[in-house]
Amino acid sequence: MSSKENVVIIGNLKMNGSLVFYDSYLKKLKESLSNLRQVTVGLCLPYPYLFLAERLLKQSKIKWGSQNVGKFSHGAHTGEVSSEMLKDFSSTYVIIGHSERNTAYCESEENIADKFKMVKEWGMTPVLCVGETLIEREAGIMESVVQSQIKAVVSKYGADIFSDSIVAYEPIWAIGTDTAASPEQTNHMCNFIRKTIKKDSSQQVSNVKIIYGGSVNQKNTVQLFGLESVDGGLIGRSSLSTDEFTSICNLADSLSN
Ligand code: PEP
Repeated sequence: MSSKENVVIIGNLKMNGSLVFYDSYLKKLKESLSNLRQVTVGLCLPYPYLFLAERLLKQSKIKWGSQNVGKFSHGAHTGEVSSEMLKDFSSTYVIIGHSERNTAYCESEENIADKFKMVKEWGMTPVLCVGETLIEREAGIMESVVQSQIKAVVSKYGADIFSDSIVAYEPIWAIGTDTAASPEQTNHMCNFIRKTIKKDSSQQVSNVKIIYGGSVNQKNTVQLFGLESVDGGLIGRSSLSTDEFTSICNLADSLSN
């Protein structure tokens, strides 16, 4: 296991919580994560609570952001939220192409690519989710599935757009199931993603982080995030508990020099 620098841990709070919950949750995390040395922590919240994150976390090391974004800049797009609006609340991270959205709202690969581009234009960090279903893994086609998800962005905007962005390998079968990918599976796919992006890019592409998401908890954190190919994690359920999330961040921090 290698010593790690610049690990990033991002909580995906999904459609959970309330004003009362986030008031207490954000204050607790601000306190409990105040001594982290190397790890960068982000929280992707439901849109209505971004104002609270900006208010409560401004003086902390924790960054915040959203779980989706509209692909257009403004206009007649009822129900959408633009990158500019997210920027108004000092957002850093924007999750794009999460499988729960792709399945429930038929998100197209073209939309995902356009969202990625818009987030970059506004100076925020896209967290692009890629990953295969169980059927696809059992058929042995996980590499081609993930490659096509990455290519959807690359073919429209070029691989260099991945500079200063994050790709989250999230096998769909591991999300919310208590069955995380094994270290071998994670290592293989994170290396594959890195190679796929590098292959199409010029020398210019830099600072691409590849993180893992899917049933991470404090028991498997060190095993997964200690892998050389893995730059951190996207944490769903385990981010809802301040104790569990704090433990995960501390464990990830202990992997650094
Ligand atoms: C997710 O949905 O991004 C996720 C990683 O969820 P969980 O940790 O609950 O599997």
